[in-house]
Amino acid sequence: MRTVLPNRPQKPATLGPQQVKHLVRAIVTTRPDEIGCDECFEELDRFAEMTLAGKSAAEATPLVEDHLERCGPCREEFEALLDALRVMS
Ligand SMILES: [Zn+2]
Repeated sequence: MRTVLPNRPQKPATLGPQQVKHLVRAIVTTRPDEIGCDECFEELDRFAEMTLAGKSAAEATPLVEDHLERCGPCREEFEALLDALRVMS
């Protein structure tokens, strides 16, 4: 007995312009040196203190700034921390 495979014409797997655009944006906005929530959290104290002191925290720790821009939970944590520090000072 031979198994006969159905001889179906294969559709070429092409990407639409929207998909390509999406793909390109994903590549462009993803940094290889991006940090995760853990690293961000470790720097968060320093970042918040510098921000309150009017220093350029974003310049000193751009990766934290970068992470806060794209991570909602960490940004909330950061804002809560800022509030706490403001109350204390
Ligand atoms: Zn995060």
